[in-house]
Amino acid sequence: MTMKEKKKVALVAHDNMKRDLAEWVDWNWEILLRHHLVCTGTTGKMVTRTLTERGGAEEISHFDITLLKSGPLGGDQQLGSMIADGEISALIFFWDPMSAQPHDVDVKALLRIATLYNVPTAINRSSADFLISSPLFEHDDYRPVVKDYTSYIERVLK
Ligand code: PGA
Repeated sequence: MTMKEKKKVALVAHDNMKRDLAEWVDWNWEILLRHHLVCTGTTGKMVTRTLTERGGAEEISHFDITLLKSGPLGGDQQLGSMIADGEISALIFFWDPMSAQPHDVDVKALLRIATLYNVPTAINRSSADFLISSPLFEHDDYRPVVKDYTSYIERVLK
């Protein structure tokens, strides 16, 4: 999988972090509108509202966003499935370090699968700033290396 110029960028924020993500989206709206955004449900509604308020009519006509189910209702798992299928180029995931989540196992699974597939992942505002401002973010032919699991897949079990 190469990083195509127009990428699928996943955005997820837990409730206490949604304001942070809204500010970050507002700050980076011009770059984000050049890509296809994939969000868990409630995050996606907030991102849509932020971008609609921010962008001019011309930019909004190109607005490209997919809303999955809400995270606790399966959205994190839907996103994990997209990552396993090689569809996601970057994950911005503002998870809450101070509150237990009802779908904690899904949160862990999402972070695990993003790590497994070597998806560039930002877990707070500063890492999101670094990720989106990296020259590699807009680079056409950057290819994240995914470890070869052939020997694991083809192992013989007795
Ligand atoms: P939400 O889900 O965007 O529907 O709030 C976020 C999450 O907890 O994964």
